[in-house]
Amino acid sequence: MTLDAVLSRIDADLPAATDRLLDLLRIPSISTDPAYKADCDRAADWLVADLQSLGATAEKRPTPGHPMVVGHIGEGAPHLLFYGHYDVQPVDPLELWDRDPFDPEIQEGPKGKVIRGRGSSDDKGQLMTFVEACRAWIAENGALPCRITFFFEGEEESGSPSLIPFMKENADELKTDIALICDTGLFGDSTPAIVTMLRGLLGEELTITAASKDLHSGMYGGPAMNPIRVLSRIITGLHDETGRITVPGFYDGVPELSDEMRAQWQGLNFDHAGFLGEVGLSVPAGEQDRTPLEMIWSRPTCEVNGIKGGYTGEGFKTVLPSKASAKISFRLVGQQDPHEIRKNFRAYVESQLPADCKVAWHGHGASPAGQMQIDHPAFEAARQALSDEWPNPAAYVGCGGSIPIAGYFKTILDTDAMLIGFGKDDDQIHSPNEKYDLSSFHRGIRSWARILDALT
Ligand SMILES: [Zn+2]
Repeated sequence: MTLDAVLSRIDADLPAATDRLLDLLRIPSISTDPAYKADCDRAADWLVADLQSLGATAEKRPTPGHPMVVGHIGEGAPHLLFYGHYDVQPVDPLELWDRDPFDPEIQEGPKGKVIRGRGSSDDKGQLMTFVEACRAWIAENGALPCRITFFFEGEEESGSPSLIPFMKENADELKTDIALICDTGLFGDSTPAIVTMLRGLLGEELTITAASKDLHSGMYGGPAMNPIRVLSRIITGLHDETGRITVPGFYDGVPELSDEMRAQWQGLNFDHAGFLGEVGLSVPAGEQDRTPLEMIWSRPTCEVNGIKGGYTGEGFKTVLPSKASAKISFRLVGQQDPHEIRKNFRAYVESQLPADCKVAWHGHGASPAGQMQIDHPAFEAARQALSDEWPNPAAYVGCGGSIPIAGYFKTILDTDAMLIGFGKDDDQIHSPNEKYDLSSFHRGIRSWARILDALT
C-alpha cells in the first residue's frame, strides 16, 4: 500500500530530515530585531531552495517587512494550502540558555530525544513536518496526490504586519479548498488535537471623572463623589454570584456545546485540579455550572486587567481623586459580536453613573471568535488519520487565546483552516532552551502523510 511505503520511508529518512531541520535552525531569523533582517531573508532563501528541491515552483515574495515564501506543486483535487512561519522569537535572556540558541543539537531528555534550539518547536520544526511528509511522498510515488500550495511567513512573531495585505493582494493564488496550519500543540503528551474554536478578544479602557480636580479628603470627603468608589461598584456588578457576566445581551451568539463535543472533552480527562493547583488555586472562578476546560475553550469571559486611581505611592496621602480608570477585556466565543458588546457594555456602564460623574472611553482591539466548520469532511478525515498515528484518538479542542491567521483564511480567502500541531506544553516556546521532541517531529511527519492520504 502506498501509505505504508511512505511511512517506512519517513522512518528511514528521519536522520536526514532532522539534519535538514538543524540546518534551518542555525539561521537566526529573529523577525522583530532589524539586526537580523539578512538572516530572515536567508531563512526564506533556504525554504525556497528546499521547496524547489521537491520540484515545487517556489519563490520569495517581497513585502514591506520580511519576505513571504510561496510555492506550488502537484495537481488534482483537493487543493491544499499549508501555512507555517520561519521567523523566531528573540533569545534573551541569553544567559538562561544552556547552549547557543542557534547551535541546535539533539539531546537526550527525561522523556526521550529532543531537538534543542530557538525555533525547534515554534515554528520551524512544525513547518518542516509537512515539508518532510511531502518529500517522502514524492520520493515514494513520484508525485504528490493533490495540488499543494506552501505559504510561509516571516513576521508571525512580530505581529504579521504584512499578512493581511499580502493575502488580499494574492487572494486568487492562495485561495484553496482547505488550509492546514501547523503552529499549535498536542493535548497532553500523546493526544493529537485539531483546534476548532478560538476565542475572540475585545478590549476597553474607561476613565471615570468626578470632581474637576483632585481634592483633600479632609476638606471635601463626604460631599464629593469619589470616582474609585463608582468604578469599583461598576466592576463588582459585572459578574453575578454564579459567575455569569451581567452586561445586557452579552450571551447573544454564545453556542451551547454539542453533546458529542462535550463527550469528546470529557474523554480527554483534563486534570482540572492540577490545572489550577499549578498556579496555587483550587476553586474555579468562572460560571459555576461549567468545567474549567469549558471556561477556557467554549465560554466567554470578562476580566479586569488593571485599575488606576488616587495615590498609590509610598506612604499615605489623603487625596480624593478626580479620576479613576480601568482596563477591561472580554474573551469571546461563537458568534458573539464584539462591536455589539462594546456598545452594550458602554451603555451599561453609562446607565450606572451617578450624577456629576462622566466616563471617557478608549477602545482597544475587537476581534470575533473563530469557529471552524467541522462538518467539512476534511475535519473528520484528518481526525481519523491522526488517531491512526498516535496512542490516543484525536480530539477537536478549543484554544483560549487567539490565532489570528485562522480567521484571516476564512474572512479574506473564504477558506476553512485546520490547526494541527505537535508541540508540547513543555516546549518552552518563546523562552530559553526551546525544544521540540524528536517524537513530535517524527510522528508529526507521519501524521501529515496520513492526512494527505486521507484527504485525497
Ligand atoms: Zn508560532
